[in-house]
Amino acid sequence: MPQTFEAPKRPSYDVVIVGGAMYGSSVAWFLANNLDFDGSVLVVERDPTYEFTSTAHTNSCMRQQFSQEINVRISQFAADYVKNFRSFMGNDPRVPEVTLQNFGYMYLADNEAFARVLKKFRKFRSPAVLAPST
Ligand SMILES: Cc1cc2nc3c(=O)[nH]c(=O)nc-3n(C[C@H](O)[C@H](O)[C@H](O)COP(=O)(O)OP(=O)(O)OC[C@H]3O[C@@H](n4cnc5c(N)ncnc54)[C@H](O)[C@@H]3O)c2cc1C
Repeated sequence: MPQTFEAPKRPSYDVVIVGGAMYGSSVAWFLANNLDFDGSVLVVERDPTYEFTSTAHTNSCMRQQFSQEINVRISQFAADYVKNFRSFMGNDPRVPEVTLQNFGYMYLADNEAFARVLKKFRKFRSPAVLAPST
């Protein structure tokens, strides 16, 4: 692992995020872009290569079926965010267009009770978001 070190530019920060992979960077970005937040943010990362992170190993699949509506909505937002990544980055031409491939998830139930659970929570699906992109 290459050792790089960049000292924090301030003596203190309002928010310190430990870990700059998927979650840490995301929290930092959304916080920094929140008009209601005018504080300072420091992201502390021990491995700038991100080689050993879960983020670097993910299959990058975004399932959208959950039992709680809030989780479905979070996942739908994530899909929209990835689909329109350049737009979220201020239409910077250096930001690549991200290709989303819509395969869908298949959920299988091996008993009636679980099948009822899957049917019950199917109502949270949003065809508008799940429709394949062009
Ligand atoms: C093989 C695999 C496949 C996956 N597939 C999917 C998928 O298809 N869909 C999906 O939604 N999720 C998937 N996941 C889960 C997903 O990758 C993780 O939930 C997500 O990447 C977690 O992101 P994170 O930023 O919290 O953690 P990580 O990516 O692990 O990042 C943690 C960061 O914190 C840093 N860190 C830790 N401790 C310290 C410290 N003390 N000081 C400084 N820095 C520190 C690490 O160096 C690292 O950069 C998969 C995971 C794996 C392993």
